[in-house]
Parts: sequence; C-alpha cells; structure tokens
Amino acid sequence: MTRSENMRRIKSKNTKPELIVRKIIWSMGYRYRLHRKDLPGKPDIVFARLKKVIFVHGCFWHGHTCKEGSRNPKSNLEYWLPKRQRNIEKDRQSIQTLKAAGWDIFIVWECEFKNLDYLKKQLLEFLEN
Ligand SMILES: [Zn+2]
Repeated sequence: MTRSENMRRIKSKNTKPELIVRKIIWSMGYRYRLHRKDLPGKPDIVFARLKKVIFVHGCFWHGHTCKEGSRNPKSNLEYWLPKRQRNIEKDRQSIQTLKAAGWDIFIVWECEFKNLDYLKKQLLEFLEN
C-alpha cells in the first residue's frame, strides 16, 4: 500500500466496508443517520430512536487485535505508529462517553467482512436486542 492510498483510507468517510454495512442494515428495514458530528467519535451509523451506534473500523488504523491490526507499517514507523495510537485513544474515549450517555455501541471490523453471513447475524442481534 502506498502512502497516498493510506491517506485516502484515513480521510474517506464512505468507505466500501461502511457501504456494505449500510446496505445490510437497510435491507433489514432499519433506517439510520450517518456521521453525526454531535456525537463523540462521529459514529458512522446512528439509530437515534434505538440509541444505538455502529462504527466501521479499519483493523490497522484502529488497532484491532487481529493480524492486520497488530501489523507494523513497513516504513515511517515514527510517523504512523503515534498516529495509530492517537486513533485508538480517541476511540476509547468516544466509546466511554457514548456508553455513559446510554448509547449501545457496535464495532464492525474490516476483517469481519470475510464472513458476511456471520456479520449479518451479529448486526441483527445488535439491532434487535
Ligand atoms: Zn481485524
């Protein structure tokens, strides 16, 4: 992955994984709002009435415990690692604040798109309960 590709990944809001999640949820009949800036961490998908939010996270940038998430960049470590660390710290704080305000949170990790049936089941469970 080149550096500019990396930058695009960080900046882009409507990433492909997010679109997939939105499509799944839409097909389940749920309606939602996107990127609410007034909520901590600007959750990707917001169900205001249900008081639930979904974040779609890239494993590398948000430090997932999977293989991709623990991978180190090949170059510019002194630049990328603190950046990732800040992301992780910001996520932690957003989740804490949201939870304290009574929101339910579900995080979809990029690596979970390998098994869409399982992901669908999990999303349904999250939204129904
Ligand atoms: Zn992962």
